Amino acid sequence: MSYAESLICLNCGTKYDLGWYFQGCRSCATDEFISNLTVDYNYEKVKETLTHELFNQSRKLWGYEDLLPVGNKNNFVSLGEGDTPLIKAERLGEKLNFPNLYIKNEAMNPTMSYKDRLASVAVSKGLDLGASRTVVSSSGNHGSAASAYSARAGLECLVFTLASAPKVMVSQMKAYARNVVAVSSSEGRWTLMKKCVEELHMYPLSTFTTWPTGNPYGVEGYKTIAYEIFSQMGGTTPDFVFVPVGYGDGLYGIWKGFHELTQLGISKSVPRMVSVETSAGAPLHEAYRSGSNRIRKVAMKHSTAAFSIMTSVCGFHALYALKQSSGLSCALDDREILNAQSDLGRLEGLAPELSSAASVAAVNQLISEGEVDRDSRVVCILTSTALKQIDANPEWSLPPIVVDPDWEKVRSMIESPRQNITEKA
Ligand SMILES: *Cc1c(COP(=O)(O)O)cnc(C)c1O
Ligand SMILES: [Zn+2]
Repeated sequence: MSYAESLICLNCGTKYDLGWYFQGCRSCATDEFISNLTVDYNYEKVKETLTHELFNQSRKLWGYEDLLPVGNKNNFVSLGEGDTPLIKAERLGEKLNFPNLYIKNEAMNPTMSYKDRLASVAVSKGLDLGASRTVVSSSGNHGSAASAYSARAGLECLVFTLASAPKVMVSQMKAYARNVVAVSSSEGRWTLMKKCVEELHMYPLSTFTTWPTGNPYGVEGYKTIAYEIFSQMGGTTPDFVFVPVGYGDGLYGIWKGFHELTQLGISKSVPRMVSVETSAGAPLHEAYRSGSNRIRKVAMKHSTAAFSIMTSVCGFHALYALKQSSGLSCALDDREILNAQSDLGRLEGLAPELSSAASVAAVNQLISEGEVDRDSRVVCILTSTALKQIDANPEWSLPPIVVDPDWEKVRSMIESPRQNITEKA
């Protein structure tokens, strides 16, 4: 049973019912600022009925239904999301001289990214609210997840994407949705999506405003990452959680999950959250570093292959989570991210999307800057898989060496100290 009671503004505390609110708090909005709404629960009641056993073992997402905002069980839309592996990165940890590095592999979700957690809860809440059609604006994973879960719910989904979106991503969207439209400008997508919501009453699964306020119900899905980590670490909390950040839904949701565990008396501390953006444009990093309470839109300085976290704006909720957890922020170059991606593959058997590898690259950077102690316990969120963007890493694009089936020749190649079967970079 869901203990969700209302939506509440993170900035001014205004409460709203659990209804059709997707453009943030109108009560404290200005021309330059819109605050996010978040779901509030009756935590006292949850405390009375919830047992510690709930967090003794990691569960599938809907195993945490009491702390999710969907009242009617019949509306749960699931493809088996959640309960993803938490892997200790021993070899990479050794290389970094950092013994307690853990990887949460979110590529194990049904459409292979952590957006499935958002989409599962957002679409389910849509059924609760009587939605008959859904709409989403996305250049990648969000579109795939939204359209897959819409299909699963029997709802037609309209996807606004960009002509520049990677082909694999678009194919994946089309696998689940008939209506995929590429719009020629990024902001133009939002204007069109807004029309669909306001005039055609389509249910929005992503943000469509200049200041990302998103679907507040969907963000709740990310809390389950925190619940799982807590139980996978034997009922303890890591010191840091590194999250690749676009609009900040994931970072905020994960923080909120850990925070709730303290509110419920289940854990004693909340990890310090670390936001990871790219040096091409890092609106959250700029705001947090300057001590501001407002995130400003930034200009893109250069291109980046980490397109899933390439954005000039970020939601206020992410800044809120960094402040509440005395977190850290950083912005990385593609070079550093590519190195981390290569290491994850060859040292750990994990091949994440470039944007996801950014979390591991950031650990490297923050250790060397002395911001993270070597004895800390760190969890990096690997948000998606390299298969979404298979040509991103130049090392992987080199064709393999071709040999004749001549054992003597092949044997001498294998045994040669110059390692002739390793491709030359
Ligand atoms: C969307 C996405 C992110 C960023 O998530 P936000 O909630 O927008 O901050 C990170 N990595 C991948 C792979 C994504 O698809
Ligand atoms: Zn407000």
